[in-house]
Amino acid sequence: MTVPLLDLRAQLAPLRDEILTAVTEVIDSTTYIMGPKVEALERHVAEYCGVEHAIGVSSGTDALLLALMALNVGPGDVVLTTPYTFFATMGSILRLGATPLFVDIDPVSYNMDPQQAEAVLAAHPEAAAKLKAIMPVHLYGQCADMAPLLRMAAGYGVPVIEDAAQAIGAVCPLAEGGKTVWQRAGAMGTAGCFSFFPSKNLGGIGDGGMIVTNDAALAEKMRILRVHGSAPKYYHRLIGGNFRLDPLQAVVLDIKLPHLPTWHQARRDNAGRYQRLFTEAGLLATGVVTLPHAVYGEAARRDGVADHHIYNQFVIRVEARDELIQHLHSSGIGAEIYYPVPLHQQECVASLGYGGLSFPAAERAAQETLALPIYPELTEAMQQEVVAAIAAFYRGR
Ligand SMILES: *Cc1c(COP(=O)(O)O)cnc(C)c1O
Repeated sequence: MTVPLLDLRAQLAPLRDEILTAVTEVIDSTTYIMGPKVEALERHVAEYCGVEHAIGVSSGTDALLLALMALNVGPGDVVLTTPYTFFATMGSILRLGATPLFVDIDPVSYNMDPQQAEAVLAAHPEAAAKLKAIMPVHLYGQCADMAPLLRMAAGYGVPVIEDAAQAIGAVCPLAEGGKTVWQRAGAMGTAGCFSFFPSKNLGGIGDGGMIVTNDAALAEKMRILRVHGSAPKYYHRLIGGNFRLDPLQAVVLDIKLPHLPTWHQARRDNAGRYQRLFTEAGLLATGVVTLPHAVYGEAARRDGVADHHIYNQFVIRVEARDELIQHLHSSGIGAEIYYPVPLHQQECVASLGYGGLSFPAAERAAQETLALPIYPELTEAMQQEVVAAIAAFYRGR
């Protein structure tokens, strides 16, 4: 049996007729740019996330770029972020002429370590003085430790932009007046950025993204920047770009959005099943395999909250990672590395002197981790196959 890393066909099948009808309607309407379908999706995503405003954009990357542009991030500014994420997090900062200041990750959650964030700013007072924003990433579908990061941002008087590209719907515990309040990814910072890349938990039939915010003035500015900075049409107060989401994507995403809670739950069920299967296979006790840790799992169970982790990826840490991947691929099992090269070691920033930087937790994660299939339609038999293949690999060593 082959087990793909992701099977979009399995998700499409039950929705296909509904999607074809909606797409046909858009085509027949001849409204191909913006319009009521995009506005409807924006309303529904805002409601789902518990925020006031949502701005549909052309991709997750453009969501990050537009949020930074609207907050006037530019040359001379510093943005605090993580070196262990998809390239777009750093790319959006660099494209505006600003400088990323990296904070190493927590090796358990793979998210920005708040204690080290404080330490990095304390150790670099000249950079801290230029700090313009903090951009944590909710990697793999689990929120970064937001409470201390939000406190730190408030202390420095800078906004937080959440890179929530992998985490739409994920919740995070924040303490408010002595009790825990769970908030959704994107709703905690000044702005939250989502991606609708097809492999994300909410994926379109092409590129798409969304920014959410509770700041009405910022939302208005982002809407203007989305259309070249023009308001009214052909009068430009600002220099924006073409960052629009198109209605074809909007109708597909609007059909999928109500299914997200079920899909998130199915991914968590699959994660639970991996936990049992890996335990039964004896792979955890020996320490050759470490499964992802749901940091907020216990608190969520206590509070009766569901989406503490939405497992956009199920990332395990293993011995002999590269040989294991070879073995899995030759056994017909999908596995990927997210991400093989930490951002400070990317060739495009070598000339900026980042090569001399050291982030041991990010560098180790890049060498020791791989993602296994976790998509909602994955069957128990497929998961057994995955675990059996991994067990066979370590037995043979
Ligand atoms: C997918 C992703 C992006 C970029 O989203 P696109 O829609 O592909 O442009 C940004 N950041 C992270 C963490 C992502 O996973």
